[in-house]
Parts: sequence; structure tokens; C-alpha cells
Amino acid sequence: MSVSKIIDLRSDTVTLPTDEMREAIARAALGDDVYGEDPTVNRLEAIAAAMMGKQAAMLVPSGTMANLAALLTHCPRGTKAFVGSLAHTYVYEGGGASALGGVVMTPIENRPGGELDLDQLQAELERPPDAHFAPPALVTLENTHNLCAGAAVDLSHVSAVAELAHRHSLPVHLDGARIFNAALALETSVDKIAALADSVSFCLSKGLACPVGSLLCGTAEFIDRARRIRKILGGGMRQAGIIAAAGIVALKTMVERLAEDHLNARALAEGLSLIAGLEVRPVKRRTNMVVFDITGDARAAAAFTAALKQRGILIGSRGPTAFRAVTHYGISRADVDHAVAVAAEAAAQVLTG
Ligand SMILES: *Cc1c(COP(=O)(O)O)cnc(C)c1O
Repeated sequence: MSVSKIIDLRSDTVTLPTDEMREAIARAALGDDVYGEDPTVNRLEAIAAAMMGKQAAMLVPSGTMANLAALLTHCPRGTKAFVGSLAHTYVYEGGGASALGGVVMTPIENRPGGELDLDQLQAELERPPDAHFAPPALVTLENTHNLCAGAAVDLSHVSAVAELAHRHSLPVHLDGARIFNAALALETSVDKIAALADSVSFCLSKGLACPVGSLLCGTAEFIDRARRIRKILGGGMRQAGIIAAAGIVALKTMVERLAEDHLNARALAEGLSLIAGLEVRPVKRRTNMVVFDITGDARAAAAFTAALKQRGILIGSRGPTAFRAVTHYGISRADVDHAVAVAAEAAAQVLTG
């Protein structure tokens, strides 16, 4: 069967840059950013720092490098970073902070809504110093929480974690890869979320549709030290204004439209939940993701994905019988309605046919 258009719901990382971004990239004023001389990077970093309410910001190639640079800057070798058991930093970043920085990644159980188990965190923090244990150096949080179906985590929880960490003189790093989605879902602003953390990272390359790039934000002193780590990691880029130019356009033009993605995700969740054999995981504050399960075994799940693919719809896998669908720039409400109709056909075919 030939399909005219692929509806790619695997991730918001598949978004392509807008025409305005391509034009800005073509015209960007450039310099050597390792010398601090790329005017477009400097402008993006100033805009990002101001939006997050931090003193300084640093452009890096990826969210993974932003988090890695943050952990290596906060945590001396042989110290502990507390991370959610389902945190992207813990699960999906190749163990970078341990491999490259000797950081002892210590998981704290994540609740289904992306929160940390506060009792467990408190018990860890209240351990008296003891030569047996790696000393704690950092608490990390994630918002929105990718592996918890993209849930936006309530500010009251972020604040409770920060209060606990700060009471024990530990800084907090927030993996805010999708912090703009979080702010939208929580009806707040990104700086109010970021204010609770000492450092925050966010991605340009997801819902904001840039081809590449993430930012790490914090105090000027912290970012100075992080720049040295970025150089060590090979993330010192030269005429990086090519990347930053798209980022500036994204922060101006792509933030408000995330509301459309959230509406579409809600419509997708509602549509899928009406299909026999599919179970949508509930999310208190849904953003741009839908995680759902299929009744049946892993073979049925694989057949379902294949049937969708044959009809031009791509979704991600979240385990043997679970899937993830992400709405983003380039996915319209009509695409969502079409995807739901196709999912109904595919589920019927796979589960009864
Ligand atoms: C995508 C993501 C990252 C990493 O970003 P990359 O640019 O893919 O390296 C980090 N944290 C979270 C929560 C993410 O979703």
C-alpha cells in the first residue's frame, strides 16, 4: 500500500526546522564560540538565561551533554547523585556521569507521575556521614517526565525536593528537556520552575523543532566551570551560531504553539482509549505524549506496530506490549484523527483477525 504522508508519532525529536529557522541559519552572524566570539551563540545564551531566570547559559549539542556537563560540574569523582529510577539521565544516557565522571548514580524510586519517593530521598539524605558511603553531591529531577508518559510534575513536589536537598546543602539539577511543555501544563512560567533548581537543562531539538542543540543554565560561576567540562567532552563547537540561530527563532516562535501539541495529545489519548484492546495510561497533567498498552502478547504488539506502519503511522515502543505516541510540530488534529481511525482498524485486525 502506498502512503502519501508518514505520520511520525515516535518522538518530538523528528520535528524539522521551520522556514524561518532555515533563513535565520543562512543569515546568522558567526564567530568562534570556543573563543566566546560567536555573536549568535552569545545572543541565544543570553535569551535562554533570561527566560530561565538564571545568570548564564551554555549551548551544547544535546540534552545528554547538557545533563552530563551538569552532573560532572556539580559532582566530584566518587560522590553520589540522586536520580529518579526512571530518569532519562539514569536510564537513557549511557551511564555517562559514571563512565566519565566517576559519579555514583543512586536511584530514588519514581512514582508513576514522575515524582521522587520523598521518604526514600529523605532517608538517604539523613544518613550520617560514614566512610562506607559515597558522599552525596546532587539531587536531580526531571520535568516533564519522559518515562512517566510525559507527565508534568507539580511545582509543589519540585519545591519539596528542592527544600529537602537544600536543607542538606545539596544543589538540585533539573532535566527540563521539555520544560516549556511542563510550564504550559502546570499553567506557570519556565522561570518559576527553574527557580527551584540550581541548574536546568532544556532541549531546542524536541517540541521546539530545532535541528540540534540544548542549553544548560545556572549561575555564572557554575556555567564557567561547565564550559571547561564541555570542552573536555568535545562539545566546544566553533561557528555554532548556525545552531544558535535556529534556537533564537524557536524561543520566539515555537513555545506558544506547544499548546496545540497538548490538545492533540489529549485528543489522541481520548481516541485510543475508546478502542477495544488498547489501554491508555492515565496521566494527571498530560503534555505531548500518550503511552498505551495492548491487551495481548508481544507478538500482537509487534503486529499492531507493523500494521500501523504499513498504513503510514509510526509509533514508539515502551516495552513488550506498550507504546508511546508523541504529538509535535507537523502533526495536525486531522493527523491525530486519522491515526486513531487507523489504530482502531489495526487493533481489530491484530486482536480478532
Ligand atoms: C531527550 C531527553 C534528553 C536528552 O536529549 P538528547 O538531545 O536526545 O541527548 C534528556 N532528558 C530528557 C527528559 C529527554 O527527554
